[in-house]
Amino acid sequence: MGILKRAIAADASVVVSVLDATDIVNEIEKIHKTSAVVTAGLGRLSIAASLMGYMLKGENDTITLRVDGGGPTGALIAVSNSKGNVKSYVSNPVVEIPLNKYGKLDVGTAVGKTGTLSVIKDLGLKEPYIGRIPLVSGEIAEDIASYYANSEQIPTVCGLGVLVNPDLSVNVAGGYLVQLLPFAGEEVISTIEKNIDGLPSVTAMMSSGLSVEDIAMKLLSGLEPNILDESKLKYFCDCTEERVKKAIMSVGNEELKSMAEEPGDTKVLCHFCNKEYSFDKNQILSLIK
Ligand code: ZN
Repeated sequence: MGILKRAIAADASVVVSVLDATDIVNEIEKIHKTSAVVTAGLGRLSIAASLMGYMLKGENDTITLRVDGGGPTGALIAVSNSKGNVKSYVSNPVVEIPLNKYGKLDVGTAVGKTGTLSVIKDLGLKEPYIGRIPLVSGEIAEDIASYYANSEQIPTVCGLGVLVNPDLSVNVAGGYLVQLLPFAGEEVISTIEKNIDGLPSVTAMMSSGLSVEDIAMKLLSGLEPNILDESKLKYFCDCTEERVKKAIMSVGNEELKSMAEEPGDTKVLCHFCNKEYSFDKNQILSLIK
């Protein structure tokens, strides 16, 4: 289970969300069999999606983060519902590249730095909202902060981290978002800046035993913070046979006919959870309009 807590400054000018996503990113590694640097990249994107998804208001709202960075991982996608439950996918799960000059997993190079981050919010309206920004570094956290600054005009600090064990399982994974409301004063801003400058990385804080609540309190130190709410989250795929059928139907009648003529059942794998759906000839023919 992932654990998310939100805290708010006494004057309500700053809200922080902190997520322990260790179990969620472990699940991602198990499903997608990612190499260490891809676990870190897809993990970070999934943590961000979950934090952002949890802020959605409508019960059926969803948010999709898609990074097309031009690097060897290909596209990375993470989708969260409004409970913060998340699923994710990467085009190329196994990328092996050297550590960066700090001796860390080089997520920016694996993901690429020359492409875009797309944020797609499906709020149940006729058209989804789509925001797209050029990547800052491909390291994900800076890219998320840049999205908020440029597309939503919300001053945001984002921290994301995934620490991978030598056996490729996930040691700790988590992240936070700090968001300032429009009426936040100069003093609040400089307090937040000072707090963040003095903090170790998310993974260092988690490794030293700090809970999500401890981290939230540190981020809002000096602003008399209170816990706003908390929730348990998980890796969650919402695929169903009906949805897969709809996806198959979108290929068109001609393609469906030739699928039905091929020997054996048509098998479709869900990219997000690897569940296999199988349709026999008659089921495929029944999808033709
Ligand atoms: Zn699925």
